[in-house]
Amino acid sequence: MIDIAIINGAVLPMAGRPVVNNGVVAITGNAISAVGTAQNIDVSNAKKVIDARNCAVMPGFCNSHTHIASNLLLRGLLEDVLLFEWLQTMWKLKQNFDEETLYWASLCGLVEMARSGITSFNEHFDAYAVEPQIEALKEIPLRATLGYGFADRGLYASITDYSWKTINNFGNLAAQHHKTRDDLLRIALSPHAVYSCGEEMWRLVREVADAHQVPIHTHLSEGMQEVNYCLDNYGLRPVQWLHSLGFLGPDVTAGHCSQLDATDIQLLAETGTKIGHCPVCNAKLGSGTMPLRQVREAGITVGLATDGPASHNASDMFQEMKFAGLIHKTNTGDVEFLKINELLEMSTYQGALAMNRPDTGRLEVGAKADVIVVNLDTAHAQPVYDPMSALVYSTRADDVRHTIVNGQFIMENGRVLGVDEDLIRAKFHEKAHALKVRSLG
Ligand SMILES: [Zn+2]
Repeated sequence: MIDIAIINGAVLPMAGRPVVNNGVVAITGNAISAVGTAQNIDVSNAKKVIDARNCAVMPGFCNSHTHIASNLLLRGLLEDVLLFEWLQTMWKLKQNFDEETLYWASLCGLVEMARSGITSFNEHFDAYAVEPQIEALKEIPLRATLGYGFADRGLYASITDYSWKTINNFGNLAAQHHKTRDDLLRIALSPHAVYSCGEEMWRLVREVADAHQVPIHTHLSEGMQEVNYCLDNYGLRPVQWLHSLGFLGPDVTAGHCSQLDATDIQLLAETGTKIGHCPVCNAKLGSGTMPLRQVREAGITVGLATDGPASHNASDMFQEMKFAGLIHKTNTGDVEFLKINELLEMSTYQGALAMNRPDTGRLEVGAKADVIVVNLDTAHAQPVYDPMSALVYSTRADDVRHTIVNGQFIMENGRVLGVDEDLIRAKFHEKAHALKVRSLG
């Protein structure tokens, strides 16, 4: 029995498999039940048939490092500064966050992601409540891993008590939320960074992650300010210091890693630590460019990620793919480095692996039915000799026509289902401007 059959499209299964022209993707329940050519798959009994003529059909994007709820409130607030200066101004607003404001920000972020074809995301909450986003995900159920944010020093010292209490109570939180809602929702431990968490906190997070089998999502080696902080305080670079604490491992997604030396790369590879690579944010905040060629040659899993809208200004993986292609060609001086299929893999299946969700990010029988249909019949994409080239270098987020998560339509024909988008934008605008006034005057 097929619930949804998507026919006539250029199907990109990803995970190393070739494009199927005039392909079919069949969905049964929450999983992919068939992928192949029209001749080989009988869709005559499908409950619903989607015609994807002139479209690409591909796994939804897996955004392996972001902060939608908080960062949406900070989008466009401060431009043209370095990371640490940027964090200080952002913090003035974060201190005044309230649950209702976060709820509308979360909803607006989910709308933006659904519209741009992001079906899975790895959220890091640095210092604010997770619950409003758990509520918002009831309205727009994307596949999410929500990392509870912790810190105990510096700018973030005021969340110290909350952090210890939450880490110590993590078994209860995991029992309540982890792998719930048909496994759409998972939770993670999210120590903020080496400059905001001390040794004791990193050690406890590792213990709790092992005890409850929950993943970890942190920031790591994001810019020279962080590297210098770590060298000055601990005599080691960030990756090497965390390794000395026994922290790194395959359950860790490390956002950024824009400053890595050869030893760092070797340690990340040996420990199986994964990377959420955010080239747009890193370029914008002057944090450097990850040595991606060496990282990939070492065998490290790397997903592309947008980081939060405060530092990227868009939850848009199309922009991220294009920029990643351009900056790594420029940085290596090698125009053949980072091909279009590799950029698409890093945005889908490799991204899923990078956020420890191997059940999505590919169109393969048994994988979760997280699928997007992208219109290629546009003036900016034609004549479309190769759908992969169109998707990486020409297509825009607005070209996404359908977004399906876990076998359910989240967006159909450009309309996000079950919510009032006008109301969400209006509420979010009102709450964000009130927050800005009470935080900055
Ligand atoms: Zn981040």
